[in-house]
Order: sequence, then C-alpha cells, then structure tokens
Amino acid sequence: MTTVDQFVQAVLASPSPYTGLDQIYVHNRILALVGDDNPVTAVDDQLTSLTDALVQTALTNGKIEDTPSDRDILADQLMDLVTPLPSALNQTFWNKYQTSPQAATDYFYHLSKANDYIKTRAIAKNVVFPATTDFGDLEITINLSKPEKDPKAIAAARNQPQDGYPLCQLCMENEGYLGRLGYPARSNHRIIRLTLGGETWGFQYSPYAYFNEHSIFLDQVHRPMVINRQTFSNLLEIVKQFPHYFVGSNADLPIVGGSMLSHEHYQGGRHVFPMMKAPIARQLDLGIAGVEAGIVKWPMSTIRLTSTDQVALLDAATKIHNVWMDYSDESVAVRAYTDNVRHHTTTPIARKVGDQYVLDLVLRDNQTSTQYPDGIFHPHQDVQHIKKENIGLIEVMGRAILPARLKTELQEVAKYLLGRHNQMVAMHQPWADAIKAKTNITADNVDAVIDREVGQVFARVLADAGVFKWDAAGEAAFNRFVAAVKAD
Ligand SMILES: [Zn+2]
Repeated sequence: MTTVDQFVQAVLASPSPYTGLDQIYVHNRILALVGDDNPVTAVDDQLTSLTDALVQTALTNGKIEDTPSDRDILADQLMDLVTPLPSALNQTFWNKYQTSPQAATDYFYHLSKANDYIKTRAIAKNVVFPATTDFGDLEITINLSKPEKDPKAIAAARNQPQDGYPLCQLCMENEGYLGRLGYPARSNHRIIRLTLGGETWGFQYSPYAYFNEHSIFLDQVHRPMVINRQTFSNLLEIVKQFPHYFVGSNADLPIVGGSMLSHEHYQGGRHVFPMMKAPIARQLDLGIAGVEAGIVKWPMSTIRLTSTDQVALLDAATKIHNVWMDYSDESVAVRAYTDNVRHHTTTPIARKVGDQYVLDLVLRDNQTSTQYPDGIFHPHQDVQHIKKENIGLIEVMGRAILPARLKTELQEVAKYLLGRHNQMVAMHQPWADAIKAKTNITADNVDAVIDREVGQVFARVLADAGVFKWDAAGEAAFNRFVAAVKAD
C-alpha cells in the first residue's frame, strides 16, 4: 500500500466526515495537496509519520517550499482530513458531557493529540524536573518545544497590519485557518463553544502545552484582558462545568501579566501545581459569612478563599480585589498609582475540591523604579541570568518556564563547576562561584546540584514578584492590608 493509500485508510477510519464511498475523492484531495509523483514511504504507520512522508512528497514535487511555515501548513491541511467538522465535534463533546465532564474533555483532548494539533513530539523535548525549596517542591521546565522562528517569518509578522485576519491567535477565526508565513497553521484546529455569564466562549487545548491538558478558554469577542467580578464569576463557572480542571487568569497589566493582553482568555487544565499544595500560613477573618480565608505559605502574596457558596465567594474576591486596586503602603514600596497610572491587579486561580470552590488571589504590583527598571516586583537583576521574562499565571503557581538557552548554558556551568574547559556565559559566573563555595562538586552530583540551585533561584524569582515579603516588615504590611479589606 502506498503512503497515500495508508493515509486514505486513516481518514476513513477517523471521526472525520468521510466514509467508504468517499475513498476515491479523499485520495484525490491528498494528491491535490502533495502532487501525483514521487511517493515517499513512511517510517511506520503512525499518522504523524504518514504526514511527514506526504510532506516530503510535496516538497519533491515542488508543491511547497522547504520552509517550516509551508511544512506546517501542509501537515495541518492533511490532519484536517482526519478531524470532524466543528459542528460535529461540538455535538459529540456535549453528548459525552452528559455522561461526565471528564468523558467530554478526554474525548476532545485525545482528538487534539491524535490530529497533531497538540504538538506532542515537540513537547516531549522539554526538560522537566522537581526542585525542593522552603515552599515545597517547585516544578522547573526548560521550554524546548516551541520551534525556532525563522527570520523570514519574524519579518512577515512584523509587517502585518494590526487589523489583519485573524486579529490575533486567540480569536475564534483561527478555527480552520490555513496559516501563512509568520502566522501559525490552524487547518486542524477546533474550538468547543460554551456559555459563561450569558456570553459565548471558546475552549481549546494549547498546541505547546506547559502541563497536562493545558487548556485555553477564550472570549468570542476580541477585547482586552480584564480582572473584575465577572472574571471571578467566569472562573467559578468553568470549574463548575469542568470540576476536574483548575482555571486561572493572567493579570490584566504588563510586566505582571502574560504575553497576550489584547484578547481576554484564561488558562486551565488537569494538573495540581505546587501553589495548590501549599498550606495556609494563617487564617484571616474577612467578616464574610460562609467564606474561609487565609494567607497561603507561598512566596507570592496569596489569599485563599474557600466556600460552597459561589455568591459569597464572589463577594469576598471582589472586595479584596477592589481594595487592592486602590491600596498603597509606602513602607514596603506598594503603590496603587503613580502619576495616575494604575499598578495594581490580581492573578486569580479557581478550582473545586469536593463541593467547595477554592479561589486563590495573588496580589500584583507592576511598578518600575530606577533601582528596578524591569519591575520592583519582578525578578531582580541578580536572578535574571536564569529568568527575566514576566511571571505569569503558570509560574505564579510554581511551575517555572525557563528559556531554551538554559539547556546548553547549564551544561557549560556544570563543566565550569567541575573545573573543566568550558564556554560558560559570563552572567552565570557569580551564581556558579557561590555554588562552588558552598558545595563539594563531583561528576556524580553536579547535575543534581545545578537542578537544586535552579530551584532556589526560581524560589527567589517568585519572592521578588511577591508584594509582601516573608519577613517581619512584610508580614506586618500584609496584616495592614487585610485590616483595610475588613474595614471596607
Ligand atoms: Zn483576538
């Protein structure tokens, strides 16, 4: 059987709209994409292997150029053939939901992996390890899954008009979009529709997942990120509909937010993050009946609210958020506004534990200063050799997403620590020397030592991002804020 025939069989066996009578038609659709000649044999009968071989055929036939963009666009067009139409997918999803929410997400997650929308092969390249710290076991990842952007694609993206189509990568209009140079291929992309607060939202998986079943919930309308009572309400509604998932929102301000502030969206999934395992350091009395509150033992300043009552929980969360929006404490450099520019917001994370709703509110402040031009509550200069990017939702919860450069850089640090010839980047030297001074490094322990020390740096990164520090002054300042909430 040729690779084309094998792929036709896979299409007919898939949940796509095509059935036996469509065999010749599907065969010809594939030839239209890859060309009639030069068949390439696949290394095995996996769908991704068949697609790889067909992309190779198309290259040989001159149907595409040898660029990552052209390869991805064609691969996703082929994968589109094994994927149900959005209408059919939504119907099956909500039918399965009647059995259980998990049956529905299992179906959608499996499908998104099977049609290579979730880039499982690329994600497998990531480096992941735990690191024990005073705040429990943090999760360290070095992100090697995102493909290097080629310069032509970067230039194409830069020259794109701001009112392009789709408006952004989180818009519904990406569903089935072919893609182009500088814009990702989305032929095999599907979105589940759901209702939140009377409005239509989309639910999809992240193609370059940072954790298990990494999901994105996106507003049907392209409008900026915002954190308010409606946000908290939407988050609780999502965990009510999908109790086996957590969901959180990035903050709605630069420096302390995510990389996409222009389109309202949340991230969720099926993973228990270190912050969720962190205990309550001290209980708080906010004076709201039916809501338990406490300060979480966590490097970032976090108030945990727990209740079975959605409305009472919303009241408490909104009150904390609103007081924080206007709250300043000069003694710890916390300022809600400078020159009429707002600096305060929260990073909220919701989940369900039994019949209880749990909402963690992380207080954020995005001021900069001459001493800390990148942010007062942002990783400071001396830890930026490991992490200088924004501390967004995922990292707030204790999972570091470190840049790809660190994989090779840390190997050079290891050589340096062992006294071998190395090409260690100069910015790592003070850190490496500090490690050397306190640890007896051997070839057997060097990797474990570096992993542990990266974990220590990440704990420091989170502490830098915390507005109230874990010292006497910070704890007193946190108590004053809580008193202000209670008095409100
Ligand atoms: Zn958008």
